[in-house]
Amino acid sequence: MTASIRICVDAPLAEGEIVSLTGGQVHYLRSVMRRGIGDDVHVFNARDGEFAAQITHLDKKAGEVRVEEQLRAPAVEPDLWLLNAPVKRAAFELIAQKATELGISKLVPVITERTVVSRVNEERLKAITMEAAEQCERLSVPTIATAQKLTTVLDDWPQDRRLVYCDEAGDDPEREWGGPAGRAGPIIDTLAAFQGNSSPWALLIGPEGGFSPAERTHLRELDFVVPVSLGPRILRADTAAIAALALWQAVLGDWRSR
Ligand code: SAH
Repeated sequence: MTASIRICVDAPLAEGEIVSLTGGQVHYLRSVMRRGIGDDVHVFNARDGEFAAQITHLDKKAGEVRVEEQLRAPAVEPDLWLLNAPVKRAAFELIAQKATELGISKLVPVITERTVVSRVNEERLKAITMEAAEQCERLSVPTIATAQKLTTVLDDWPQDRRLVYCDEAGDDPEREWGGPAGRAGPIIDTLAAFQGNSSPWALLIGPEGGFSPAERTHLRELDFVVPVSLGPRILRADTAAIAALALWQAVLGDWRSR
């Protein structure tokens, strides 16, 4: 059996509703997937869940589906943010796609001292996360926050949310940053200590150039920050984001639930 085509729609979903498709969805259904009037698709959003639907109109410019029975009720999804310094476009887009598959609820591009990429294409990231959500069977699409300075994000931080700070200086004294005591421990052991604790979480990944000594010191001083190491090798930001999210899901997230 081939997997159903899943389309994310903002409109309220209920049996009998007629829902219009966006230009991108029309193109995808018609030109990429070669679907036409009468074909079945699934439509979903986080608020209403997932529904069977039938294409009732599809031409070059517009498309509509009629919503049929509900297939999945809305469900609670992990409340996990990824704070990531923008890196080169291809790597950042990969991060957005993989982080969606790995279950983040929000991507926050954070500008750090050594961030060299200043432009973030929010529209493109939205399209990537929506496509990734459609493909991986989640019901929600992560929010893309407007790029903000790391210091601003930390100043406004909701104190009950813990922040896993992926620190490439790790636990190696040779790579000491000169800040206050308390080095980054191995991620698995550090996160395992929080099992059974229901606070919301976020992860922080730095840019190609890493964090500055001042940022390291500041991060270590904050009560909600949990510094972790991802091992002895320096990972590229995209690898670090994917590895850290996978480990968070395995230890504290929903990877036990299927
Ligand atoms: N240029 C920096 C490396 C930056 S890697 C240096 O050589 O020190 C980009 C980001 O990935 C880092 O800021 C960190 O958040 C994460 N990262 C990479 N390797 C890591 C590791 N071994 N442990 C923890 N975080 C790591």
